[in-house]
Amino acid sequence: MKINLPALPYAAHALEPYISERTVDAHQRDYLKTYVTKLKDLVQGTKFANADLDTMIIKADGLILYNAAQIWNHTFYFSGINKRKEYKLDGNFIEALRHKFGSLNGFRDAIINKAVTMFGSGWIWLIIDEKGKLELIQEIDAESPLRKGMKPLLAIDLCEHAYYLDYPNRRIDYINSFLKLLDWEIIEKRYNQYNVKKGAKKEYAHAV
Ligand code: MN
Repeated sequence: MKINLPALPYAAHALEPYISERTVDAHQRDYLKTYVTKLKDLVQGTKFANADLDTMIIKADGLILYNAAQIWNHTFYFSGINKRKEYKLDGNFIEALRHKFGSLNGFRDAIINKAVTMFGSGWIWLIIDEKGKLELIQEIDAESPLRKGMKPLLAIDLCEHAYYLDYPNRRIDYINSFLKLLDWEIIEKRYNQYNVKKGAKKEYAHAV
């Protein structure tokens, strides 16, 4: 498999004013590109030379796992946000959100709470757990929910490089802006794919 730098699903300025072109550009072209370059070197001559990212995340460890997870996580992060019109949620997903968080505002409050209680670098994930329930979790560094049998719906990068140019030392402001960018259509689609189509994980991971 050829590991390539994942393209952004939109132009680098598309998230303004919430996340600047400068931040998106640096995030993708500096940080994400570095993970891709490193992973290409690391897998040469190993049994992962032709593996896809999902396989590396599940079966590798050390630096191959770290860099593969960073690429997967960042691709997922960028594809979960967009600046678009309101999207009307309906069906099972909004019911599951209400059941877990009370309301969409409750969901936003829960994310903010997770963000302010996370020390250091890491990610917040909205996932479906093994019992099929929605859950918000914190993961340190480049941990992957895939390794725990969880099904991710949304990833939020809390590393400083994701926001410090726009919101120096103001993680809360970044989270509030991020929440304005949620691409509910995609998040709901992810939820429905997991719930409707069994064994869809692989197709889904490549669809991000
Ligand atoms: Mn990042």
